[in-house]
Amino acid sequence: MNYSDSERLKTVLERIGYKETLSPNKADLIIMNSCSVRQHAEDRIFGFINEYEKIRKKNPQLKIGLTGCMVRKTSIQKDKEKDNLLSRIKHLDFVIRTEEMIKLPQIIGIKSSKKTNNFNTLESRELKNYFHINPKYESKFQAFVPISTGCDKFCAYCIVPYARGREKFRSKKEILEETRSLAKNGCKEITLVGQTVNSYPKFANLLKEIDKFHKFGLERVRFVSPYPPDTDDDLIDAMANLKTLMPYIHLPIQSGSNEILRRMNRKYTVEQYEKIIEKIRAKIPDCAISTDIIVGFCGETREQFMETYNLFKKIKWDMAYIAKYSPRPGTVAAKMLKDDVPAKEKSRRFHMLNKLLQKISLEKNKKFIGRTVRVLVENYNKGINTGRSEHFKIVKFKSSKSSVGKIIPVKITKAMEWLLWGQI
Ligand code: SAH
Ligand code: SF4
Repeated sequence: MNYSDSERLKTVLERIGYKETLSPNKADLIIMNSCSVRQHAEDRIFGFINEYEKIRKKNPQLKIGLTGCMVRKTSIQKDKEKDNLLSRIKHLDFVIRTEEMIKLPQIIGIKSSKKTNNFNTLESRELKNYFHINPKYESKFQAFVPISTGCDKFCAYCIVPYARGREKFRSKKEILEETRSLAKNGCKEITLVGQTVNSYPKFANLLKEIDKFHKFGLERVRFVSPYPPDTDDDLIDAMANLKTLMPYIHLPIQSGSNEILRRMNRKYTVEQYEKIIEKIRAKIPDCAISTDIIVGFCGETREQFMETYNLFKKIKWDMAYIAKYSPRPGTVAAKMLKDDVPAKEKSRRFHMLNKLLQKISLEKNKKFIGRTVRVLVENYNKGINTGRSEHFKIVKFKSSKSSVGKIIPVKITKAMEWLLWGQI
C-alpha cells in the first residue's frame, strides 16, 4: 500500500517541478512514507531521520517530511500542541497525511509562480480524493492498484483502522479504468491492494472484469491481503477458473488458538480457517498459501502458542510472515490487555516458528524440482535474472537483461528455503 501511495506522491512532486534522485545526498526534499504497523517500523524512521539530519548539515536547504501511517488525523501541520509528532520527532519540517498529499505544494511552501501554476492544474476531483491522482508507476510491467483504503475490522492489536481510518472503497469504474489502461500500456501483472482486499463488494466480479483485460496482454492478477471470513466460494471459483488469477493466496491467520483469535477480535475460528484452506486446495490442488502470524500476543500461554505451532505443521504454509507482538498505542489491546509475554519468550516462539517455516518451505520448494514454471522477470544483476513464478516463488536463473519484464519458462533445478534456481 505504501509503495502504491509513493507512486502517487511522485506524481504530485513531479507536477511541481521536482525530479527523483536515488541519492539522499543530492536531495532538496526527502519525504519518508512510514509504516506504523509495528514498533520496529517506526524505529527505523527515527534512524533515517538522524541520517538525513547529517546530510542537512551539508545542505541546509534540505527539507525533511514524514507521511504514511505514522501521521494521524491529530498530527496537524504546525500545530505543535496537537501535533505530538512534530514535537516528538526532532528535525522534521512537516508531516502530512497520505490522503492530503495533494496539499503538499502548499505545505512545502512552493511560491514561485511557475510552480504554483502547476499546482493549480491539479484538478478539483484530485483534491477531493487522492486516489484520483494518476500514479507514476515504478515499473512498466507490474503495478499495484489500491482498491480500498482503511479498515473496519478493528483487530485488537492493529493500528491500521486508526492510522488509515475507516474503510473506503474506490469505485469499480475507476479501478477498471486504471487496470484497463495499465494492460493496454504493457502491464503484465497487477496486484490489487487493500487491508481486507476481498471485503470489496462483489470482489469476485471485479476479478472477472479485470480478467477480460487478458486480451490486451494482462497475464497475471494477484490480490493482497484477503480477510479469511470474506474468502467465499465465488472468490475461490474465480481463482480456479480465471486465466489471469494465479495459484497463490496470502491468507493471514494470526494465531492457531481460538481463544487468542477471540481476544484479537479476528472474527473466525481455526476450524473456519481450515475449512477455507480445504476448499482452496480442493479446487486449486497445488495452490501456494502464505500467512501472517503474531507470536506473544497478550496472555498467550505456551500451550496456546503450541496450538499455532501444531497448526503450522498441519496446514504447511508455503511462507509465513511472523511477527512478535508489539503494543500500538491507541489500540484496544494496548488499552485493555496486558503485554505480558516477556521479550525473551516472544523471541523463543518467533525462532521456533521460523525454524519450522524454513523446514516446510524447503519441503514445499523441493516439489518444484524438474517442473517448468513461468517466471515474470523483475530484475537482472551480474548475469542472473530474478522473478516470481505463478506460485509467487522467487526464481533465479542465468539469462540476459533483455528478459526483464518478460514471462520466461524456466525449468527448476535446485530448491532452497526461500527461492528456486532454474534454467531457461
Ligand atoms: N490487513 C491484513 C494485515 C495488515 S497488518 C490482515 O488483516 O491480515 C500486517 C501484519 O502485521 C498483520 O497481519 C499482523 O500479523 C502484523 N501486525 C499488525 N499489528 C501488529 C502488532 N501490533 N504487533 C505485531 N504484529 C502486528
Ligand atoms: Fe488490521 Fe485487522 Fe484490519 Fe488487518 S483486518 S488491517 S489486522 S484491523
